[in-house]
Order: sequence, then C-alpha cells, then structure tokens
Amino acid sequence: MSDTQFDANCIFCKIVKGEIPAKKVYEDDYAVVFHDINPQAEVHLLAIPKRHIVSTKELTDAETETIGRVMVAATKAALALGLDDGWRTIINTGRIGRQEVMHLHVHILGGSKVLPAMV
Ligand code: IMP
Repeated sequence: MSDTQFDANCIFCKIVKGEIPAKKVYEDDYAVVFHDINPQAEVHLLAIPKRHIVSTKELTDAETETIGRVMVAATKAALALGLDDGWRTIINTGRIGRQEVMHLHVHILGGSKVLPAMV
C-alpha cells in the first residue's frame, strides 16, 4: 500500500505497517484483525481496514468493497478462534459514539463475559 493511504500519527495505521506490535489473528490485502489491548470479553478482537478511514461517518460508495472485506475478515477471525456460538459486533462512531481511536474499527466480542446487550 502507498503511504498516502496511511495517517502517520494513527496507532492502527502503525499496527497495519508493523511499526507497533499487535496480536494479529487474520490479515489480507484489505483488512487486519487483531486482539484488543484492553479486552472487554473473553475474546475481544478489532477488525480494521488497512487504509486509513477515520470512521463510518467518512464512508462513501468508494469504500463499499473495503468495508465488506473488513466484515468478512471479522467473521473469518471469529470462527478461527472458535466463536461458533456467535459474537457481538460494535462500531463506535465519533464523539457521541464514544470512538477513541480515529481509524474505523469493528469490535468483535465473544466467549464468556460479553458486555450486556445495549438494545
Ligand atoms: P473505540 O472506543 O471504539 O475507539 O475503541 C478503541 C479500542 O482500541 C479500545 O477497545 C482499546 O482498548 C483499543 N486499542 C487502543 N490501542 C490499541 C493497541 O495498540 N492495540 C490493540 N488495541 C488497542
């Protein structure tokens, strides 16, 4: 990938580039899935697009394939870790959505101790 697809100050871009370590579960040309550093469930993964997209608020038609690939990557990683009974996916967007890392990511929560449903 070209450097124009990364944000030099973004922690998740640094994980994509291998500049900081992460426990990666799955990777392809579009997406990376790795363990959350502060797990909120027995299994807590983050699925991200390789290219820097700030949040779902920035999505356009151009990102359709990338986002589809991120969701498929999330499924592959969850099943690879044995989450056969299912999992929760959460995407936080912007300030109101309590998004802290400004690189779009899908939380995958599975196993025991999954947070109670919000809805
Ligand atoms: P947000 O609130 O949806 O933005 O969630 C950001 C998530 O990124 C949190 O669950 C953090 O624990 C996680 N996180 C932050 N830095 C790292 C890291 O370096 N590696 C893995 N997970 C991280």
